[in-house]
Amino acid sequence: MHFISTRGQVPPTPIDDALVAGLAPDGGLYVPGRMPRLDDWSPLSTLSATALRTLAPYFEGSALRDRLEAICADAFSFDAPLRPLAGAGDHVLELFHGPTAAFKDYAARFLARALEGLRDPSAPPTTIVVATSGDTGAAVAAAFHRRPGFRVVILYPDGKVSPRQAHGLGCWGDNVAAYRVEGSFDDCQRLAKQALADEALRARVPLGSANSISLGRLLPQAAYYAHAAAHFHAAHGQALNFIVPTGNLGNASAAFVARSMGAPVGGIRLACNANDTLPRYFAGADYAAQPTRATLANAMDVGAPSNFERLRHWHRSDAELRAGFVAASVDDATIREVVREAPTRHGIVACPHTATGLKLLQDLRAAGDTRPWAVVATAHPAKFESIVEPLVGHPVEPPPALAECLARPARAAAMAPEYDALKAVLEG
Ligand SMILES: *Cc1c(COP(=O)(O)O)cnc(C)c1O
Repeated sequence: MHFISTRGQVPPTPIDDALVAGLAPDGGLYVPGRMPRLDDWSPLSTLSATALRTLAPYFEGSALRDRLEAICADAFSFDAPLRPLAGAGDHVLELFHGPTAAFKDYAARFLARALEGLRDPSAPPTTIVVATSGDTGAAVAAAFHRRPGFRVVILYPDGKVSPRQAHGLGCWGDNVAAYRVEGSFDDCQRLAKQALADEALRARVPLGSANSISLGRLLPQAAYYAHAAAHFHAAHGQALNFIVPTGNLGNASAAFVARSMGAPVGGIRLACNANDTLPRYFAGADYAAQPTRATLANAMDVGAPSNFERLRHWHRSDAELRAGFVAASVDDATIREVVREAPTRHGIVACPHTATGLKLLQDLRAAGDTRPWAVVATAHPAKFESIVEPLVGHPVEPPPALAECLARPARAAAMAPEYDALKAVLEG
């Protein structure tokens, strides 16, 4: 299969080239030339088997084709359980059982293994530069940790991630180095972008990116939607509807990919925090990126959701796109209230991101909606203990993989928010 750019200025590109490139050369995002449709969505026993079935059509012409099964087995080695909640028809899709306790583990692991498979072993090592507001950097670090041929440089805004998130960024060592930048997430992103656009630097130091616009992060995420929906459909004869806590729109776009491929995915609702670019658009306003606002659900603090360009590409008009999704904004006061009440109301402890999704579920039920819904639990609550524990009134045990990471020492060097500082690190 070939891939095209959302901006239409590049020739059809084989998947392997699109994976390595990340961003298309015309500045657009790679999308499949056509969306493959599968007829058979009978449930498979493991998530990795569903991942293989979902991803195989995209990898038909790939050098990775014969290794795809092994890559899926390795990347999707932990479960994504769909659990019923207290209310009738209410479910949660738990995507936080990976090494960094957030959904980004699945796709980061897939991308790392795919890039490793595509690498020329005799080439000098590739440095993955990643700017993060918390979760991406940890997932990418864990995925590339001790992988031969790769080095990871993480940039995060000092003091603006939770203490456990900071630990999860700094606890790797070996080929992973974390830097706490004296600035905002936007400063981190600006520095990373500047390095990736610096051709002179790249001629000396091979660089790579692993951000959420990469195809290698988008496509694998379709697997857990397809898997949950296939099992639900087989058991109940109904499509499963999803509420997705949303920032850059990568995870929700993957739900759309699964639905477009014919998986029994029903409605898709986007739960946003106070960064309301998408809710405004879906309510009928012209699309207008907003300055980013800091919220309790920090991994969703995005004012210009990068995958919006993909969703727009996949629809013929704004009207068609707006008809396919609903988006709503949840403010910090409401996030607090939902986290506080989630144990009694839903029977779970929720992270602040998942809480935005629970709020949309509550609103649907209050409006009389009786369809089955799954709120996507994007991170484990123990990762945001400083917010969650005071609200629920008891400690939240970290899952084993996160506990392991918290038990190791963590280290991050300070970095001034200046390009020369990053360049010195990359060249060092
Ligand atoms: C990244 C992240 C999100 C937002 O996902 P997008 O794909 O950027 O929309 C939501 N919750 C958590 C915990 C995250 O880490």
